[in-house]
Amino acid sequence: MPGPSIVWFRRDLRLHDNPAFQAAYKRNGAIIPVYIWDDVEERATGAASRWWLYHSLTSLQKDLQNFYNLSLTIYRGDALKILSQLTDVFCPQAIYWGRLYEPSTRRRDEKIKESLSEDCEDVRSFNSSLLFEPWMVLNNEGRPFQVFTPYWRKCLASGSIEKPTAAPPKENRKVVDSKKISVPAINLEDLKLRPKIPWDKNFYKFWNPGEAGAQKNWNTFLKDRKKNYSEGRDFPALASTSELSPHLHFGEISPRQLWWEMKPSSAVQNVFLKEVGWREFAHQLLYHFPQTSNEPLREEFKKFPWREDSKGLRAWQRGETGFPIVDAGMRQLWQTGWMHNRVRMIVASFLVKDLLIDWRKGAEWFMDTLVDADLANNTLGWQWAGGCGADAAPYFRVFNPMLQGEKFDPNEDYIRRWVPDMKLDPIVDHKKARERALQAFAKMKG
Ligand SMILES: Cc1cc2nc3c(=O)[nH]c(=O)nc-3n(C[C@H](O)[C@H](O)[C@H](O)COP(=O)(O)OP(=O)(O)OC[C@H]3O[C@@H](n4cnc5c(N)ncnc54)[C@H](O)[C@@H]3O)c2cc1C
Repeated sequence: MPGPSIVWFRRDLRLHDNPAFQAAYKRNGAIIPVYIWDDVEERATGAASRWWLYHSLTSLQKDLQNFYNLSLTIYRGDALKILSQLTDVFCPQAIYWGRLYEPSTRRRDEKIKESLSEDCEDVRSFNSSLLFEPWMVLNNEGRPFQVFTPYWRKCLASGSIEKPTAAPPKENRKVVDSKKISVPAINLEDLKLRPKIPWDKNFYKFWNPGEAGAQKNWNTFLKDRKKNYSEGRDFPALASTSELSPHLHFGEISPRQLWWEMKPSSAVQNVFLKEVGWREFAHQLLYHFPQTSNEPLREEFKKFPWREDSKGLRAWQRGETGFPIVDAGMRQLWQTGWMHNRVRMIVASFLVKDLLIDWRKGAEWFMDTLVDADLANNTLGWQWAGGCGADAAPYFRVFNPMLQGEKFDPNEDYIRRWVPDMKLDPIVDHKKARERALQAFAKMKG
């Protein structure tokens, strides 16, 4: 009797187009689906993302149970130790998971693969979250791209993307009591992912975490939003973007599905897929330049004279800067765990240029408060704003937050929505702050 297959779910919390789950399903034996909350996940998951993860795991648990009679077992502790114990007790014929690309997960996963392969013949990881894995698209010298346009051009020319697969047919699988190992399985509640203070109460109005919620957003996008995407995507008051970012981060929808249902041809399809392309670019950058989540890609920025300004940082975090578009963005973030891309660019620029505060402080706040917090995308966004990353906005080009507001929220609908009590009492004089930023840049240049 062949042993069961273990599927280690991580950030591929879906059943359709999930190659690890598909491969286990095809083996016809029992399946042990597990989720492990280890140090790596714990350190990497901010408060808003924990809220999302809780609901996403709840949804996956239900679907596995309803469609396949499988129960997702949850563990807390060292992933290698737990998977090794499962291997010792159940002698699995296969252990599968979807790949992740951050430095900490890569280090962990390489060790795990090597170690488990000693006792299990088929230990395999799959691509479940990208169109182009970071090593697939390199420049003519075999090095990673640092500029988006040629990178994306090469991606588009580099051949076909596999078609997404449907979820395997419903079927009751044999149940294995995977709880019988010495590390105790726990209930999802025991991970304490939801906050003690109910700051998440508004999140329920905006989000529906899980695979079904992801498909719903995608269908709404195709039906209602796609047609306005090219013109509307920069205007935060118009809901014209897909709002798929947290679903993509947790792997509740596959980028292959987006690709195939939007294959590049018309202008709007190209514009949308190009944004998905930025996500690909961000992942390949973090993969090839793993230090960049914490260090500027452009070396000269290591000596940039950032200011220490805890009062300014707090005002920014609370949406109390007196600059309407900045405060609206920061309050949207606080209330919904999400912020429109154009406004992310404005608030990030305000922090690093008007307040001259280190981009890492902004990145850290975003990692804690965004439901879509993603190390690769967030690093790219912040290094872009800070002028210190790949293909970044030059540091000396300073956004004027008032003009940005006038341009992208001309009727102030977005501002009024998030800051109905707006008082114009700016914490800095933008003109002076701009000069201060340019002087700091000149100082760094020496
Ligand atoms: C300072 C800063 C920090 C950011 N931090 C994050 C983050 O932590 N997590 C995150 O997912 N995105 C981040 N972004 C990128 C972007 O703002 C969001 O992905 C986007 O707003 C999500 O909205 P949407 O799903 O409606 O996007 P859509 O316009 O519908 O785009 C579809 C998908 O493409 C991807 N995408 C779109 N724009 C970008 C981009 N500029 N960079 C990378 N991927 C992109 C996202 O996965 C998105 O869901 C950041 C941007 C900035 C400027």
